[in-house]
Amino acid sequence: MAKVGIVLDKLYVDHDNGMGHPETHERILAIVDMLNFTKLIDEVVKITPRDASKEEITLVHTVAHFENMASTKGKPKVFLDADTSTCPLSFDAAVRASGGMLSAIDSVLEGEVDRAFPLVRPPGHHAEADKAMGFCLFNNVAVGAAYLTRVKGLSRVLVVDWDLHHGNGTQHMFYDDPSVLYFSTHQHPYYPGTGSLEEKGSGDGKGYNINVPLPTGMGDSEYLKIFAEILGPVIEQYKPEFILVSAGFDTFIEDPLGGMKVTPEGFAKQTRFLTDYADKYSNGNIVFILEGGYNLDGLWISNKEVIEELLDKKTSDYRVLEDTPQVISIIENVKKEYSKYWDFS
Ligand SMILES: [Zn+2]
Repeated sequence: MAKVGIVLDKLYVDHDNGMGHPETHERILAIVDMLNFTKLIDEVVKITPRDASKEEITLVHTVAHFENMASTKGKPKVFLDADTSTCPLSFDAAVRASGGMLSAIDSVLEGEVDRAFPLVRPPGHHAEADKAMGFCLFNNVAVGAAYLTRVKGLSRVLVVDWDLHHGNGTQHMFYDDPSVLYFSTHQHPYYPGTGSLEEKGSGDGKGYNINVPLPTGMGDSEYLKIFAEILGPVIEQYKPEFILVSAGFDTFIEDPLGGMKVTPEGFAKQTRFLTDYADKYSNGNIVFILEGGYNLDGLWISNKEVIEELLDKKTSDYRVLEDTPQVISIIENVKKEYSKYWDFS
């Protein structure tokens, strides 16, 4: 069994977007219920999260954005965009969500755990350098990636974003930076509007931003085929020293916001693909972090599958056996667009 660090904190439940909002504290409670019901809670290592410092958060965010978020502390409700708002504890929760990412990374780097999965709210990948958006206040995965490259001195960090939505914030923060390779599969066109095939990075970062925009209806076989045909060769060539995963569960077949068809077993297979590649090319260094996912039963069962896979209680076979005609031309297009930077032969 692998040692798997789980990060939980009461603040991740305290953050409140208001009644009827899909990004509800019940998302975390559903996962905690699963951990208790299955007794997986007794098999994981509980990592206590620290707070990310202002210096760490401003590795990717502007000081003005940090101070703007800090100014919401204690206020009953501040609207940040049409569907993103704060409660009195949201700033504290956001600082600890990014801190949970850093505590998880430290635990892996120090060998206390083999892999880790911070189960945080608010999520992060839509947050831009200078603004909150799309339910996200600080970009947790980006804070983690910048911490690895700029504080810990790593040269190559891969961010895999399998959330339904494109991680516009993460893309933009490392757009000209080859030390962080951003790879995203996402429904497109869809919120937040970014994530086209043409967005490949700029300057030294050209080719290190890989978008795989997808129509609705993609399921387990399609995602695994994309991983096998595009992500696999990229990892083999990039040889990331650390892999971070923006793990959203809104590609789940019954998610209310998404049009994809990923099953709990599909999430298990995606997880095994990534842990296998991390073992082979990244010295096993991998941290998943919770992003979206709005069907509570889907979160319950899918997180069970992912955590069992991380623990090595299960080792799913991710080889694609089914035909995936719908995705073949998409894959060919991505390969053509990126063949200047990566060898897919
Ligand atoms: Zn999402």
